[in-house]
Amino acid sequence: MAAGAGEILQLIRSGRATTRIQVLEATGLSRVTVAQRMDALVAAGIVRAAGDAGATGGRRSERFVFDPTDSLVLVAALELGQTLPDAASSRGSQAHSSDTAVLAVVDPHGALLARASLAVDVAAGPEAVLPQLLDGFDDLLAGAGIKPAGIGGVALSVPGPVDPHDHRLSDPPVMPGWGAWPVVEAVRARFDVPVHLENDADAMAYGEFTELGAGRDRRPEPFVLVKVSRFLGAGLVVDGRTYRGTDGGAGDIGHVDVGGDAVCRCGRRGCLAAEAGGTALLRRLGEAGSDVGSLAELRALAERGDALVTAELERAAGLIGRVLAVVVGVLNPADLVVAGELAVPAVIAGIRAGVYAGAQPRATARLRIRAAALGPDAVLVGLARVAIDDRFSAEAVDARLG
Ligand SMILES: [Zn+2]
Repeated sequence: MAAGAGEILQLIRSGRATTRIQVLEATGLSRVTVAQRMDALVAAGIVRAAGDAGATGGRRSERFVFDPTDSLVLVAALELGQTLPDAASSRGSQAHSSDTAVLAVVDPHGALLARASLAVDVAAGPEAVLPQLLDGFDDLLAGAGIKPAGIGGVALSVPGPVDPHDHRLSDPPVMPGWGAWPVVEAVRARFDVPVHLENDADAMAYGEFTELGAGRDRRPEPFVLVKVSRFLGAGLVVDGRTYRGTDGGAGDIGHVDVGGDAVCRCGRRGCLAAEAGGTALLRRLGEAGSDVGSLAELRALAERGDALVTAELERAAGLIGRVLAVVVGVLNPADLVVAGELAVPAVIAGIRAGVYAGAQPRATARLRIRAAALGPDAVLVGLARVAIDDRFSAEAVDARLG
């Protein structure tokens, strides 16, 4: 029952116990031991006193909050751009030039202190993209006047599965050349702090699962986020942690076969992404005579109620919902949150219809299906939280405080 300082920190962070008396009651430790361990957390700059929690029998009952003084996080989200499969073959590498990396410095509470966006070419491979990202981090820190010594962790997201054992991309269907490449090691060579590599939908799900996001009032019930953008993916949070599966493939719903004819970027036919992802929607609209060229235009047309766009979005969302019905049947989540550039009302409604048509009523009785709360920042917030959770885990704190 020896609750160390690290365990006490978890009580304070979660709000389960924030005064010395509450910690004493929660842990069964002696008054002296509780005082010593909380003093150590204060001395280390991890928690601080934050005023009186209210009188309890006339005794001082100071409230403590998690507020680390030295733990900014550098985050970067890699996002694939608007390349259409046929454009890629006719225009060569130029067609990939609209991939982006969004970089940010995030504080331990999830506030974005500085951000920047870089054009990158994911297809050029990690040898080309990683140095760009690292230089971008240097520029971001210099521009914000933040010293690299204030950085306590780095976290990156990629649009592909990440193996939870070796922390490398695991046969990414849409990132050729990145599989098993040592991204984490390359970042650590520049920033000597813990480095995390995450799947983008996983990072978004974790961001929305925090007290800042759409799942905040039902934590820690099982939580599912579906990202509807150029491509499709889902992130799962189970028992308060990202559920990654055996090799990082959990939630990779974009390549489930839904029986269509379209060729997917992964090379197979019939993938959900090839039928219902943003890239597929632009292609289908083009074939139907529309000249919509980007997801932003697609969104704008949807908001204006364009009949062709709305019909295509509803068709796509229905397919996504039918696949998510299986996810709902397996996981029985409390929340299904729709995120990404195409999380518009027509898509959310179509997903809801698909889930309700495909799942048994029991599985949807308590399910909430709705839009994400954090918008495109969810991935950045989620990445920062991954790094902060790791840096301030009970084990890490106990090791640091000796
Ligand atoms: Zn595929």
